[in-house]
Parts: sequence; structure tokens; C-alpha cells
Amino acid sequence: MGWVRVIRLEQITMLMVMARRAAIRTPQGWAISVLLEVGTIRECEEHGWMIDRADPHARDRALAIARQEPPFGLSSDKAVAAIEDIFGSIGDTCPECQSQRD
Ligand SMILES: [Zn+2]
Repeated sequence: MGWVRVIRLEQITMLMVMARRAAIRTPQGWAISVLLEVGTIRECEEHGWMIDRADPHARDRALAIARQEPPFGLSSDKAVAAIEDIFGSIGDTCPECQSQRD
């Protein structure tokens, strides 16, 4: 039941707004913005779900940013953990595209 944990774009937008307000309290918002920036995840154009691109190089880039440039107030260990947490919560297909195919 991985879909349950997939994050909707509206929630991410909210997280990113919150991240701008208080970087320390929302490492997830920061992690998602980094993952989108380096292309580790993308958004389904039709449904807005976040999709893991399963690109190991993009994952490495995101983890390197977490280690070298953690957000203000977050240790590099916690920044890496936030990135890994997002990896674990996003599927590699859009659940709505998937259900249309069935
Ligand atoms: Zn879709």
C-alpha cells in the first residue's frame, strides 16, 4: 500500500511555503525542493502526484547537497535523513495513471 504515503502536489506546495517560513521545522519541504531541483523526482503532469524517477545519479546529487549544503538550522545528518525519508514515501509511478491502465 505504497500509494497511501505518496505526497500530493498541494501538500508539497504547502510544505515548501512552510519551509520558507521556518526551515528548521520542515526538513521535508526543503528535501522536496532539492529533489525537484536536481530531478530526482518529478510531478505527473496530469494528476500532480510526485513520482520517483529512479535515477541513482540524481539521488546522489540530492544526497551530496544534503551533506554539503544543509538548510539553515539542520545538521547534514538530518538533511540526509529528510531526503531519504522522501525517497521512501514516493512511488515510481503515478497511482492515477496506473489505475487508468488497469
Ligand atoms: Zn498521473
